[in-house]
Amino acid sequence: MLYLLNGVFNIANHPLIEVPFNYRNTCWFCGEPDDQNVDFPKKTYEANIVTHEPICLPSCKECANIIQRSAFTSIYAYRDAIKQGLVKKHQKVLSIGSNWTEQELLESEFEGSAFEGFKRSAWPMFKMMQARINYQGWSIVINNDHVIEENEHENFEFDGVNYTSLEDAVTHAVKTFFLDEQLFTRVLSVLGKAKFTQAIRLCRLYPNLSTKQRESVFIEILDSIGL
Ligand SMILES: [Zn+2]
Repeated sequence: MLYLLNGVFNIANHPLIEVPFNYRNTCWFCGEPDDQNVDFPKKTYEANIVTHEPICLPSCKECANIIQRSAFTSIYAYRDAIKQGLVKKHQKVLSIGSNWTEQELLESEFEGSAFEGFKRSAWPMFKMMQARINYQGWSIVINNDHVIEENEHENFEFDGVNYTSLEDAVTHAVKTFFLDEQLFTRVLSVLGKAKFTQAIRLCRLYPNLSTKQRESVFIEILDSIGL
Protein backbone atom coordinates (compact mmCIF):
# COMPACT_ATOMS: atom_id res chain seq x y z
CA MET A 1 0.00 0.00 0.00
CA LEU A 2 2.77 2.40 0.93
CA TYR A 3 4.51 1.73 -2.37
CA LEU A 4 1.33 2.47 -4.26
CA LEU A 5 0.61 5.59 -2.26
CA ASN A 6 4.08 6.82 -3.10
CA GLY A 7 3.24 6.14 -6.70
CA VAL A 8 0.01 8.05 -6.42
CA PHE A 9 1.39 11.18 -4.88
CA ASN A 10 5.03 11.39 -5.85
CA ILE A 11 6.32 12.59 -9.14
CA ALA A 12 8.80 10.10 -10.50
CA ASN A 13 12.07 11.15 -12.04
CA HIS A 14 12.86 8.96 -14.96
CA PRO A 15 16.01 9.10 -17.15
CA LEU A 16 15.82 11.87 -19.74
CA ILE A 17 15.98 10.72 -23.36
CA GLU A 18 18.83 12.00 -25.48
CA VAL A 19 18.08 15.21 -27.33
CA PRO A 20 20.09 15.73 -30.56
CA PHE A 21 21.58 19.20 -31.01
CA ASN A 22 19.10 20.32 -33.67
CA TYR A 23 16.13 19.23 -31.54
CA ARG A 24 17.11 21.20 -28.46
CA ASN A 25 14.16 22.93 -26.80
CA THR A 26 11.62 21.05 -28.87
CA CYS A 27 8.51 19.19 -27.76
CA TRP A 28 9.03 15.52 -28.69
CA PHE A 29 5.33 15.12 -29.46
CA CYS A 30 4.55 18.11 -31.69
CA GLY A 31 7.76 20.04 -32.47
CA GLU A 32 6.70 23.25 -30.72
CA PRO A 33 9.13 24.88 -28.28
CA ASP A 34 9.22 22.78 -25.09
CA ASP A 35 8.70 24.18 -21.66
CA GLN A 36 8.98 21.17 -19.42
CA ASN A 37 10.20 17.60 -19.11
CA VAL A 38 7.45 15.06 -18.60
CA ASP A 39 7.68 11.60 -17.11
CA PHE A 40 6.26 8.63 -18.92
CA PRO A 41 4.53 6.96 -17.28
CA LYS A 42 3.40 9.82 -15.07
CA LYS A 43 2.89 7.69 -11.97
CA THR A 44 5.11 4.92 -10.62
CA TYR A 45 2.28 2.39 -10.43
CA GLU A 46 1.62 2.74 -14.19
CA ALA A 47 5.03 1.22 -14.99
CA ASN A 48 3.28 -2.12 -14.55
CA ILE A 49 1.52 -1.86 -17.86
CA VAL A 50 4.24 -0.17 -19.93
CA THR A 51 6.32 -2.45 -22.15
CA HIS A 52 9.56 -0.44 -21.91
CA GLU A 53 11.50 1.28 -19.14
CA PRO A 54 10.22 4.60 -17.74
CA ILE A 55 11.55 7.71 -19.49
CA CYS A 56 11.41 11.46 -19.25
CA LEU A 57 11.10 13.66 -22.34
CA PRO A 58 10.72 17.31 -23.34
CA SER A 59 7.18 18.50 -23.99
CA CYS A 60 5.24 21.69 -24.57
CA LYS A 61 2.63 22.63 -22.01
CA GLU A 62 -0.33 21.67 -24.19
CA CYS A 63 0.93 18.16 -25.04
CA ALA A 64 1.88 17.59 -21.40
CA ASN A 65 -1.64 18.27 -20.17
CA ILE A 66 -4.06 17.26 -22.89
CA ILE A 67 -4.50 13.60 -21.84
CA GLN A 68 -5.93 12.77 -18.45
CA ARG A 69 -6.29 9.00 -18.63
CA SER A 70 -3.50 6.47 -18.12
CA ALA A 71 -2.80 2.78 -18.94
CA PHE A 72 -0.82 3.42 -22.12
CA THR A 73 1.37 0.49 -23.03
CA SER A 74 4.15 2.59 -24.61
CA ILE A 75 5.27 6.14 -25.25
CA TYR A 76 4.09 5.67 -28.84
CA ALA A 77 0.55 4.77 -27.76
CA TYR A 78 0.60 7.83 -25.49
CA ARG A 79 1.83 10.00 -28.37
CA ASP A 80 -1.04 8.75 -30.57
CA ALA A 81 -3.53 9.71 -27.85
CA ILE A 82 -1.97 13.18 -27.62
CA LYS A 83 -2.30 13.65 -31.38
CA GLN A 84 -5.95 12.57 -31.23
CA GLY A 85 -6.48 15.00 -28.38
CA LEU A 86 -4.92 17.83 -30.41
CA VAL A 87 -7.04 16.99 -33.47
CA LYS A 88 -10.21 17.05 -31.39
CA LYS A 89 -9.33 20.28 -29.61
CA HIS A 90 -8.26 22.13 -32.77
CA GLN A 91 -10.86 20.74 -35.14
CA LYS A 92 -11.93 24.22 -36.29
CA VAL A 93 -8.43 25.27 -37.30
CA LEU A 94 -7.80 21.95 -39.04
CA SER A 95 -11.05 22.22 -40.98
CA ILE A 96 -9.71 25.34 -42.72
CA GLY A 97 -7.48 23.08 -44.80
CA SER A 98 -10.40 20.83 -45.70
CA ASN A 99 -12.74 23.66 -46.62
CA TRP A 100 -10.32 25.90 -48.51
CA THR A 101 -7.16 25.91 -50.53
CA GLU A 102 -4.70 28.72 -49.86
CA GLN A 103 -5.45 30.22 -53.25
CA GLU A 104 -9.22 30.17 -52.74
CA LEU A 105 -8.79 31.84 -49.41
CA LEU A 106 -6.63 34.62 -50.89
CA GLU A 107 -8.98 35.18 -53.79
CA SER A 108 -12.19 34.97 -51.82
CA GLU A 109 -14.31 38.04 -52.20
CA PHE A 110 -15.85 38.21 -48.78
CA GLU A 111 -15.58 41.71 -47.46
CA GLY A 112 -15.46 43.14 -43.98
CA SER A 113 -12.72 43.54 -41.44
CA ALA A 114 -13.48 40.34 -39.53
CA PHE A 115 -13.04 38.26 -42.64
CA GLU A 116 -9.92 40.17 -43.72
CA GLY A 117 -8.35 39.19 -40.42
CA PHE A 118 -9.42 35.60 -40.88
CA LYS A 119 -8.00 35.56 -44.42
CA ARG A 120 -4.62 36.73 -43.18
CA SER A 121 -4.33 34.39 -40.21
CA ALA A 122 -6.31 31.30 -41.22
CA TRP A 123 -3.82 29.63 -43.53
CA PRO A 124 -0.75 30.06 -41.30
CA MET A 125 -2.82 28.79 -38.34
CA PHE A 126 -3.86 25.75 -40.32
CA LYS A 127 -0.32 25.05 -41.54
CA MET A 128 1.07 25.30 -38.04
CA MET A 129 -1.51 22.93 -36.59
CA GLN A 130 -1.06 20.51 -39.47
CA ALA A 131 2.69 20.49 -38.85
CA ARG A 132 2.16 19.74 -35.14
CA ILE A 133 -0.15 16.81 -35.90
CA ASN A 134 2.19 15.36 -38.55
CA TYR A 135 5.34 15.89 -36.49
CA GLN A 136 7.42 12.79 -35.82
CA GLY A 137 9.73 13.09 -32.84
CA TRP A 138 13.34 11.90 -33.05
CA SER A 139 14.25 8.32 -32.06
CA ILE A 140 14.21 7.60 -28.37
CA VAL A 141 17.61 6.73 -26.97
CA ILE A 142 18.53 6.46 -23.31
CA ASN A 143 21.81 5.69 -21.58
CA ASN A 144 23.87 6.30 -24.74
CA ASP A 145 22.82 3.42 -26.87
CA HIS A 146 19.59 1.87 -25.72
CA VAL A 147 16.85 2.57 -28.25
CA ILE A 148 13.15 2.23 -27.47
CA GLU A 149 11.58 1.13 -30.72
CA GLU A 150 8.05 1.58 -31.86
CA ASN A 151 6.58 -1.89 -32.05
CA GLU A 152 3.49 -2.95 -33.87
CA HIS A 153 0.48 -2.55 -31.63
CA GLU A 154 -0.11 -5.70 -29.68
CA ASN A 155 -3.59 -7.10 -30.20
CA PHE A 156 -5.70 -7.44 -27.11
CA GLU A 157 -8.61 -9.80 -26.75
CA PHE A 158 -11.53 -9.07 -24.51
CA ASP A 159 -14.98 -10.71 -24.44
CA GLY A 160 -14.15 -12.68 -27.58
CA VAL A 161 -13.30 -9.55 -29.59
CA ASN A 162 -9.81 -8.96 -30.88
CA TYR A 163 -8.89 -5.27 -30.46
CA THR A 164 -5.99 -3.76 -32.36
CA SER A 165 -4.52 -2.47 -29.11
CA LEU A 166 -5.14 -2.31 -25.39
CA GLU A 167 -6.01 1.37 -25.84
CA ASP A 168 -8.86 0.46 -28.23
CA ALA A 169 -10.24 -2.08 -25.77
CA VAL A 170 -10.10 0.58 -23.04
CA THR A 171 -12.05 3.04 -25.20
CA HIS A 172 -14.63 0.36 -25.94
CA ALA A 173 -15.00 -0.67 -22.28
CA VAL A 174 -15.35 2.95 -21.08
CA LYS A 175 -18.22 3.53 -23.54
CA THR A 176 -19.95 0.20 -23.05
CA PHE A 177 -19.85 0.06 -19.27
CA PHE A 178 -20.12 3.81 -18.60
CA LEU A 179 -16.82 3.85 -16.72
CA ASP A 180 -15.00 6.84 -15.36
CA GLU A 181 -12.08 6.78 -17.81
CA GLN A 182 -9.49 8.17 -15.44
CA LEU A 183 -10.42 5.83 -12.61
CA PHE A 184 -10.60 2.76 -14.84
CA THR A 185 -7.24 3.38 -16.50
CA ARG A 186 -5.60 3.96 -13.13
CA VAL A 187 -7.01 0.77 -11.67
CA LEU A 188 -6.08 -1.12 -14.83
CA SER A 189 -2.52 0.19 -14.57
CA VAL A 190 -2.24 -1.29 -11.11
CA LEU A 191 -3.93 -4.61 -11.84
CA GLY A 192 -2.32 -5.17 -15.25
CA LYS A 193 -4.07 -6.06 -18.48
CA ALA A 194 -4.59 -9.71 -17.51
CA LYS A 195 -7.15 -8.43 -15.00
CA PHE A 196 -9.03 -6.22 -17.45
CA THR A 197 -12.43 -7.72 -16.52
CA GLN A 198 -11.82 -7.32 -12.81
CA ALA A 199 -10.87 -3.68 -13.36
CA ILE A 200 -14.19 -3.11 -15.14
CA ARG A 201 -16.11 -4.82 -12.36
CA LEU A 202 -14.43 -2.69 -9.69
CA CYS A 203 -15.00 0.59 -11.54
CA ARG A 204 -18.58 0.06 -12.75
CA LEU A 205 -19.88 1.10 -9.36
CA TYR A 206 -18.45 4.60 -9.77
CA PRO A 207 -19.54 6.09 -13.09
CA ASN A 208 -19.35 9.81 -12.30
CA LEU A 209 -16.62 11.16 -10.11
CA SER A 210 -15.20 14.53 -9.21
CA THR A 211 -11.41 14.76 -8.98
CA LYS A 212 -11.56 14.60 -5.21
CA GLN A 213 -13.91 11.62 -5.14
CA ARG A 214 -11.75 9.83 -7.70
CA GLU A 215 -8.72 9.98 -5.41
CA SER A 216 -10.56 8.43 -2.48
CA VAL A 217 -12.38 5.82 -4.58
CA PHE A 218 -9.03 4.81 -6.11
CA ILE A 219 -7.51 4.29 -2.65
CA GLU A 220 -10.67 2.47 -1.53
CA ILE A 221 -10.47 0.08 -4.48
CA LEU A 222 -6.79 -0.66 -3.86
CA ASP A 223 -7.67 -1.32 -0.24
CA SER A 224 -10.53 -3.64 -1.17
CA ILE A 225 -8.24 -5.85 -3.24
CA GLY A 226 -5.59 -5.89 -0.55
CA LEU A 227 -2.97 -3.67 -2.16
ZN1 LIG B 1 3.76 19.62 -27.94
